[in-house]
Amino acid sequence: MSTLYFITGSQDLYGEETLRRAQEDGKMIAAHLDSKTGCIRVVAQPIVRSSAEAEAVCLQASADSECIGVILWMHTFSPAKMWIRALQSLTKPILHLHTQYNETLPYDTIDMDFMNLNQSAHGDREFGFMCTRLGIKREVVAGCYKHKSVIDRIRRFALAANAVQFGRGLRVAMFGNNMRDVAVTDGDRVESEIRFGWNVNYYGIGEITDILPDITETEIAEKLQEYSEKYEMNTDNSAAVREQAMYEIALERFMVNNNISAFTDTFQDLHGLNQLPGLAVQNLMAKGVGFGPEGDYKTAALAAVLTKLAKGRSGATGFLEDYTYDLSEGEELELASHMLEVSPVFAAEKPKIEVHPLSIGGKSDPARLVFDGIEGDGIAVSMIDLGDRFRLVCAEIRLVHAPAPMPQLPVARIMWKLKPDFATGSAAWIYAGGAHHAVVSTALTTEDIRLFAKLTDTELVVINEKTELAAFEQQLDLLDTIAKLKR
Ligand code: MN
Repeated sequence: MSTLYFITGSQDLYGEETLRRAQEDGKMIAAHLDSKTGCIRVVAQPIVRSSAEAEAVCLQASADSECIGVILWMHTFSPAKMWIRALQSLTKPILHLHTQYNETLPYDTIDMDFMNLNQSAHGDREFGFMCTRLGIKREVVAGCYKHKSVIDRIRRFALAANAVQFGRGLRVAMFGNNMRDVAVTDGDRVESEIRFGWNVNYYGIGEITDILPDITETEIAEKLQEYSEKYEMNTDNSAAVREQAMYEIALERFMVNNNISAFTDTFQDLHGLNQLPGLAVQNLMAKGVGFGPEGDYKTAALAAVLTKLAKGRSGATGFLEDYTYDLSEGEELELASHMLEVSPVFAAEKPKIEVHPLSIGGKSDPARLVFDGIEGDGIAVSMIDLGDRFRLVCAEIRLVHAPAPMPQLPVARIMWKLKPDFATGSAAWIYAGGAHHAVVSTALTTEDIRLFAKLTDTELVVINEKTELAAFEQQLDLLDTIAKLKR
């Protein structure tokens, strides 16, 4: 189970009694956080009194595959030179918890013994200096550990650290390559693995077509039963639906056999498949599989990671593509969809299975899920490769119901409003170089993406109610300048 180490820092000058108290207080706080954060275990480590002990616990955290991050807290003063080698050897994300054992001061009884034991205001500043001096990215959470706002921030960090850790072992399959001549979906796969741990590899679509003849009638019947329970059948073309069921079974089998959690395909490379996978991909996305169309491996991987991050929260997370607009002045709306592949987690109603022609690709009519989308606050997150670095663009959006039905549109449709307004939000996205593919989520917030960006040291720009174009363009210029200096 995913674990956060809780490390209490001190030194050996205070005597046994003070150190024993500091150890007990650390254990108690760790146990409290363990019970309140839920999802992740928080495990107290022995109190750290010297550079050798600091290094030992940080090396242990780095080597422990269950450990997704460390919470560090300086109960007493802890001279920060003793943390240098420890911090240099630590490979896990840091949450620096700036708290203290006592919520209020015991004004009537406070004496120097109390001051010696409870001096995180002193010790945490010394420790913070060393993190800054070493250029270590970390999350600082300040406040009484009992307060809900503090526990919420620790939980958010834990979930982000867990998703980053999941990404470190993520294997992504590209069936076919990037769509010919398309730029923004392409990227540096080596750099993706260095920075995010995403292992991205090409496979021929033959890997899937080879499995098709081995699929049994029982497997197909089970898959069709699953479809009929989840979706409404709105087509007589059961052969097309059966074909998609076989694609999904083959894709699932391939992913299990190869330990793969995200994939891309492209309509330009479907040799041996009669249809573009539609319903098959949609049903897989709803199970948390990351998907990117047209060889967009970055979106596929990001979708898998952000779906992991959103797990257990209410709301929907998945790939969407910017398509077309309603430009009614002051009421501008975006219609997001894709040729086929929209995750049914965004459905406001029971999705319908339908079969319609696909206008590109020259294949048979594919079965797909058709539905209208949910409403609610959300974010759209795009990852682009600028050549010398990756950038995350995160736009806060408001998903809305379509103002009118679209009976002739044979795909799922999700609509949203841009912030702070259409002119600013869309221009900012375009200035930032944001893609026409994004991972959209009503479960996550900008704060989650900020943490993901921080823990992976990835550049982030945010578009929200406060965005003002002149300042936004200046920020982009500054980020380019900083990147050149870092090069
Ligand atoms: Mn596309």
